[in-house]
Amino acid sequence: ATPTAVMVGIGVASKYGLLVKGGDVLEVAHGLNTMVFDKTGTLTLGVPNVIETETGKKEDKEQQSVMTVGAMTKQDMVALAASAEINSEHPLAKAIVQYARTQFQLTDLSLPHSFVALPGKGVEAQVNGRNVKIGNWAFLFEKTEEDKLVEIALPDQFTDASQVADEMKTRALRGHITLLLAIDNVLCGMVCLFDAPRSEAKWVLEKLQQKNIATKMLTGDGKTTAHAVAKYIGLENAEDNVISQVLPQEKHAVIECLQKGIAWTKQTEKERQGNTKYIKKVAMIGDGVNDAAALAQADLGIAIGKGTDIAIEAAGVILMTDNLEHILTLLDLSKVIIHRIW
Ligand code: ADP
Ligand code: MG
Repeated sequence: ATPTAVMVGIGVASKYGLLVKGGDVLEVAHGLNTMVFDKTGTLTLGVPNVIETETGKKEDKEQQSVMTVGAMTKQDMVALAASAEINSEHPLAKAIVQYARTQFQLTDLSLPHSFVALPGKGVEAQVNGRNVKIGNWAFLFEKTEEDKLVEIALPDQFTDASQVADEMKTRALRGHITLLLAIDNVLCGMVCLFDAPRSEAKWVLEKLQQKNIATKMLTGDGKTTAHAVAKYIGLENAEDNVISQVLPQEKHAVIECLQKGIAWTKQTEKERQGNTKYIKKVAMIGDGVNDAAALAQADLGIAIGKGTDIAIEAAGVILMTDNLEHILTLLDLSKVIIHRIW
């Protein structure tokens, strides 16, 4: 690429709100075969809402967003959940705090005495002398080698934790995210949230596919929720194209595997390290702290302008307009520039 053509390209890009950081970006963009999208905050708006419906009779259980168990009222439960999440930067945490404030007028939430966030899992906090855990099913019920997981007691309607998982699955099939809440190690309820896909996501993916660019979704969320969202935005062949339940620290390895043409699983670590041949040009599009390493690993990292500073730092291109459409603009522009040169 001639320096002049590249400079012109970068200038034109900026008119579309594309902040291009380096001279080689346009050339790299031209050669991409795969684009990997983070789900939360990238394919979706990243502003989840607690879905509010009435609690009540058992027959209505399907419709409930917040189920109350035992003597605790829904308001007490929401207050504890919000207090536990108040120090978390996670969009789900912000949604719960917002919900507590707007739907229950809980304006002076107690601050937790201690607080630990487990990336990709949930948070644990001490609030008013009570132990509060909120997060996904794995966080409360899946024993891993390193942690000495405490037993979570189940409310009356469940005899087994797998029934809790079933209950969550009906919601996940609609693309909803269910978080479980345990207070003093008793499962007290669940908070169901929905993060709507961006309106342009579907057609942008469609256009990319027409350009023969493989499109994929990468997420820390559960498989069922991820597949439901994929279906909504027209991402086909979910078994291959949706990579779910990936921990933040694993995201960069997924990108590296795609670059090397290896299917990523939790077991392909050795294969990834042993293989040194890069055969695909992969772009990663993300917004979060947890995407930074993947953005850096990708041949091209594209950050959402409203994303976190660390993602913006790690990326080669920033979408200042907060609209996925301009990924297509970037590709068109790179094509024009490249053809001017050769
Ligand atoms: P993504 O990759 O989609 O941005 P994350 O890795 O941030 O997702 O989170 C994955 C899952 O971990 C969430 O869907 C949620 O179940 C759980 N989780 C992470 N952080 C929190 C939190 N602060 N509170 C509750 N659950 C959380
Ligand atoms: Mg995200």
